[in-house]
Amino acid sequence: MRVVVLGPPSAGKGTQAARLAERYGVPHLSTGDALRAAASGATGIGSTVAATMRAGRLVPDETLNEIVAARIDQPDAARGFILDGYPRTVEQAEAFAAMLARRGLTLDAVVELRVDDPTLVQRMEKRAADAVASGGTPRADDNHASFRERLHEYREKTAPLSDYYAARGELHVVDAAGDIASVTHDIVAKLGGLNPSERQS
Ligand code: AMP
Repeated sequence: MRVVVLGPPSAGKGTQAARLAERYGVPHLSTGDALRAAASGATGIGSTVAATMRAGRLVPDETLNEIVAARIDQPDAARGFILDGYPRTVEQAEAFAAMLARRGLTLDAVVELRVDDPTLVQRMEKRAADAVASGGTPRADDNHASFRERLHEYREKTAPLSDYYAARGELHVVDAAGDIASVTHDIVAKLGGLNPSERQS
């Protein structure tokens, strides 16, 4: 099972990708998590990546293409993966298609989560508040200034991927404004994976 989860910031990509990974028994690959791990090194490439992420801008395509190519070659991804946060530009999508083709692999589906802007902002605020409430620190990009830039980057660079994948017949759009379990249910239904007992919602 090879699935890409697309959607604006705070749409719930990470949450849904983790649930799908569990369900289908494949790893959840989050490029945001991979970059946050790289960015936690305070010097060199880490500090440049951290500054780019904090500003809400996209990290260069080549960096992401290298990270993903290395990650999908790991043994645990041999049976598939749920990819969260990549591709985010048409250039990345083209590099990813070439990467898969070179390995004789195909994508099963691209799931696009759609959520209205006020709900996205509320979810970002909630994630930041939850982090503080549990004694942690919010993500450096979960604040209003960074979030505006993340949304802008999404509209300019990532939203065109809807048309890109629709043209390839791979796109499944899911309304992701509802609660976590019902969104998962709708995604799995689109992927054709519901068990008989789950078909009535
Ligand atoms: P996320 O955790 O998916 O919200 O990603 C957090 C940040 O990581 C983004 O705002 C970007 O700065 C960076 N990032 C994650 N994935 C990509 C990607 N595919 N291309 C460029 N930047 C990315």
